[in-house]
Amino acid sequence: MKFHLKKEDFVLVRKGKDKGKKGRILAIFPEKATALVEGINFVKRHTKPKRVDRQGGILQKEMPIAISNLAYFCLKCQEGAKLGRRYLEDGTKVRFCKKCGEIVK
Ligand SMILES: [Zn+2]
Repeated sequence: MKFHLKKEDFVLVRKGKDKGKKGRILAIFPEKATALVEGINFVKRHTKPKRVDRQGGILQKEMPIAISNLAYFCLKCQEGAKLGRRYLEDGTKVRFCKKCGEIVK
């Protein structure tokens, strides 16, 4: 399965509880079609105190989110955009914003 998104891409969440939020992709898990996005899909985990001198607390952790719920966020358009692929004159394959034509590395 091929994805238009890569690690380090800036993305917009289109669905779910974090809809409308933006963040950078930290990791992609192609086999699960999910991605870990900075600041997105935080899950609270309650931790129990392990020792008497330590308190239990709430640990927040990002969990992977379905790639299908993410859209590339074009900084030029300032909105979620679809990416296309094309080849430059020198044969380099690039991705580009289908709305404004801006080339994405
Ligand atoms: Zn654009």
